[in-house]
Amino acid sequence: MTAKPLKFIFVTGGVLSGLGKGLSSAAIGSLLEARGLKVNFLKLDPYLNVDPGTMNPIQHGEVYVTEDGVETDLDLGHYERFTHMEANSQNNVTAGRVYDSVIGKERRGEYLGGTVQVIPHVTDEIKERIHRAGENVDILIVEVGGTVGDIESLPFLEAIRQFRADVGRENVCNVHLALVPFIAAVGELKTKPLQHSVKELQSVGIAPDIILCRTDRHLPRSVKSKIGLFCNVDEDAVVTAKDVDNIYELPLAFNEEGLDEKITRVLGIWTGAPNLGAWEELIRSLKAPEAEVRIAMVGKYVDLSDAYKSLNEALYHGGIGNRCSVKIDYLDSEKLTDTAVLSQAHGILVPHGFGSRGTAGKIEAVRYAREQKIPFFGICFGMQICVIEFARNVAGLKSANSTEVDASTPHPVIDFMPEQREIEGTGGTMRLGGYPCSLREGTVAHSAYGTFDISERHRHRYEFNPEYRERLENAGLMLSGSSPDGKLVEVVEISDHPWFLGSQFHPEFKSTPFAPHPLFVSFIRAARSRSDGLEH
Ligand code: GLN
Repeated sequence: MTAKPLKFIFVTGGVLSGLGKGLSSAAIGSLLEARGLKVNFLKLDPYLNVDPGTMNPIQHGEVYVTEDGVETDLDLGHYERFTHMEANSQNNVTAGRVYDSVIGKERRGEYLGGTVQVIPHVTDEIKERIHRAGENVDILIVEVGGTVGDIESLPFLEAIRQFRADVGRENVCNVHLALVPFIAAVGELKTKPLQHSVKELQSVGIAPDIILCRTDRHLPRSVKSKIGLFCNVDEDAVVTAKDVDNIYELPLAFNEEGLDEKITRVLGIWTGAPNLGAWEELIRSLKAPEAEVRIAMVGKYVDLSDAYKSLNEALYHGGIGNRCSVKIDYLDSEKLTDTAVLSQAHGILVPHGFGSRGTAGKIEAVRYAREQKIPFFGICFGMQICVIEFARNVAGLKSANSTEVDASTPHPVIDFMPEQREIEGTGGTMRLGGYPCSLREGTVAHSAYGTFDISERHRHRYEFNPEYRERLENAGLMLSGSSPDGKLVEVVEISDHPWFLGSQFHPEFKSTPFAPHPLFVSFIRAARSRSDGLEH
């Protein structure tokens, strides 16, 4: 028996960025999974950073961390939330990484004295990575970041063009997503920008098989046939990608438009009808929440909610687990001077963060949540802030701090571990990816997870300083989770409070709509109790 040929879907975008290419790719993956196919994803990012780890979240959105400890693009989060793929270092490749590897090979003499060029050396490197990401699955979905026409994208597009010839036309489906705006002044949907972006794609030798039209309304047949005519695709290959209220509606919306059917036809795959029962059930429950819970998120990157993408989703998932909707109010910690604005919150969350800016506001938010007994969740830096606040205001260590915020604090309750200090100076080592953690019996963490041994993903340099362990424990801070060898503190709690927990790790990276993360379910449950209490 011959093995089934691996199939590839390439997703490109045009007109402008931010049209939802990542979500569309994820939704396509979920539909193919629902047809019993095994999918994997590859995000190609045309920028020259080797990885997005050093990029400003305001510019680039969240840095998503994989289980194997790689800092990647946030689209990998969409893929993991929509499908069963398990993201690792092979699922995100930047131009920087490709060039780094090509130049490394050149330096080692691996090109045997040849002239190293974009074609074939860079394009071969890209194609090799596409093949690698496609191992052991039925379909690989490759999303090309940026928009068609960007200078940086060219080597990637050229690699994709060659790819179809390499693996056979019938094994590739090109999907192009572009904007079809409705211009109110003339009352018309305009297809010209989309036509231009398809032309741009065709000019580098790529013909789309399917065109996804991002619009705010359903495309009438006349518009679809016009696009089909001008862009040289069948009318039924022009698919409306209408705005949805909730991102999880996307798979069903695409299915209604016949997208998965069309993809399987282009790729010559026979499958039964997709089993979308779980998605339908999810949407039914999302549309009929019993209550609304309001969470105040006190952070630094509040102007761009993409900076907290996974966190937002995990909170919504916590709502799904409690049959309620979650509304997030973003508060800038730098501007938080009066904590009274937090009084109506049903829960308060301090997220991850780097650097000292805005820490005072975060500390005050923690104090308010602790004193007013408002459910509180601190994540990564948020947990470190809990420790600082507790040290200062409960344990009496007035000027306690993290050495990240104040290098000369007399009470460095959050600090580098001694072994880290030796290698600091070179930029330091970040603890990245999945690490095991043991939970203590009788804690909120243990009852939420229902197990003693867990593993969660990390992304931080600083740690709870073990020298302050005893003092803070004696003052009432509960160290409810630690590394299995007991050295690193991973979870802190306080008792005599409805829900107060800080985790050094990022639980949000492991939450999905179908398996809401236990800590978020538990947190939202506590917030929901408070909301019920405030109403009565
Ligand atoms: N800045 C902190 C550290 O490096 C926390 C990082 C984070 O919140 N992800 O330890």
